[in-house]
Amino acid sequence: MDHATTLRAAGLSKTELTAGTLTVHSPIDGAEVAMVGETSPADVAAIIARSQAAFKAWRQVPAPRRGELVRLLGEELRAAKAELGAVVTLEAGKITSEGLGEVQEMIDICDFAVGLSRQIYGLTIASERPGHRMMESWHPMGPCAVITAFNFPVAVWSWNTALALVCGDPVIWKPSEKTPLTAMATMKIMERALKRFGDAPEGLVQLVIGGPAVGEALVASKDVPIVSATGSTRMGSIVGPKVSGRFGRPILELGGNNAMIVAPSADLDMAVRAIVFSAVGTAGQRCTSLRRLIAHRSIRADLVAKLAKAYASLPVGDPRKAGVLVGPLIDKGARDRMQAALAAARKEGGTIHGGETVSTGVPEGGVYVTPAIADMPKQTDTVRTETFAPILYVMGYETLEEAIAIQNDVPQGLSSCIFTLNMREAEAFLSAAGSDCGIANVNIGPSGAEIGGAFGGEKETGGGRESGSDAWKGYMRRQTNTINYSAELPLAQGVKFDF
Ligand code: NAD
Repeated sequence: MDHATTLRAAGLSKTELTAGTLTVHSPIDGAEVAMVGETSPADVAAIIARSQAAFKAWRQVPAPRRGELVRLLGEELRAAKAELGAVVTLEAGKITSEGLGEVQEMIDICDFAVGLSRQIYGLTIASERPGHRMMESWHPMGPCAVITAFNFPVAVWSWNTALALVCGDPVIWKPSEKTPLTAMATMKIMERALKRFGDAPEGLVQLVIGGPAVGEALVASKDVPIVSATGSTRMGSIVGPKVSGRFGRPILELGGNNAMIVAPSADLDMAVRAIVFSAVGTAGQRCTSLRRLIAHRSIRADLVAKLAKAYASLPVGDPRKAGVLVGPLIDKGARDRMQAALAAARKEGGTIHGGETVSTGVPEGGVYVTPAIADMPKQTDTVRTETFAPILYVMGYETLEEAIAIQNDVPQGLSSCIFTLNMREAEAFLSAAGSDCGIANVNIGPSGAEIGGAFGGEKETGGGRESGSDAWKGYMRRQTNTINYSAELPLAQGVKFDF
């Protein structure tokens, strides 16, 4: 299907695709696919005011009724899965099954949030005073800005939005300036759900389009109490302090530098399958992509040989084509950064396999590379830096303690895993002295998390949590309530204040 047909099938009109100043390219072939309208930072104040007005109505709607809107969103997403998945492929370059998988993730979080809408539980707490009861209530906070990255152009919005809506918070979405079309297509789906719902307040879910300046207008506003920002550590280091500085609540989902430890007892065939998917999937452009392989010295050479063989047979090309596993990089800048990282790794003593530009058998105009393996003498500065491309650095280890130390010795703390059949090693890896990441897996790669768990990471990854478990608490304010049903007024801690 050509680009225009894909965009039309997702409900985007010719006017919307030609009316503006922001040029959108498809990484598949570099083609200019649209010029979309941008939001002026000067208009953001009015958008926030609409969101605040929507909040006043939405916070009064019972949470299970709010869940009904998210249930309808899930239904509309199911109906539009193929069309939206195709736009993800067009605009972010993901292979078809990953484009569809991203939409499935949106559907899954909607299902989760619908259940959550009837489970926004607070605790009851034993009071030290007779005739008293204590409890916690969870209340909506207000507008939630959702700033998203190019590489999960729609799923990250849904993790935030499905929760924020059932929690009673309106949403203002600023997608990556590289992927506004997936956002516009998603808003069409959201609008269908809102229409079926009937009486949601106007301005409950809004979209702003543009680059950092529009994002900064949201970040700066005291009327946006929650800012959920996904992207590079560089972006988070600007956004986080600004939101905290005005006592807003930042939820930061930033860069990762994810590792796998492969122990001598590991099932190597399984490890190879997990490594290839997590290092090469999405052309290495996932926040949870596997970037560092820490292999026991006794199996390292065998593992690298197996990987080199698997890498040699990986089909690189048009992500829409059946059988292709490695699509394009987002743009030329990504390739330049990949080449620079490989050159630096070579200087640091690394031996590089792959990493070449592919120009035959791929659509002209796109940026295609063969995934690279960099066999390193040790963990160097280049290895410690997240390069958003398919580079897998391989390092060796002797003791598990050493492997865990290497795993933790990076600034980022998103995802990690160990392949071992040794229960002591697996448990040590998951223990307090083990992985320091927000996600730690056993015999599963670091990428492809399910929505049921809380998603996010420590250190420079930003500390935010989204998606499942109790991540919803990040979108609400906690209120502690003490109720006195006695005829006395005893003070806490036995304080006497008689007059
Ligand atoms: P990016 O930081 O360039 O941009 C992300 C978003 O932030 C965009 O919408 C951008 O316009 C906006 N932005 C940039 N500067 C801003 C500012 N000063 N104020 C407000 N908004 C600003 O990231 P990218 O290249 O789109 O995405 C790749 C990065 O995202 C990688 O580092 C990856 O690891 C990370 N990522 C993290 C997660 C996670 O959940 N931890 C998920 C996906 C991507």
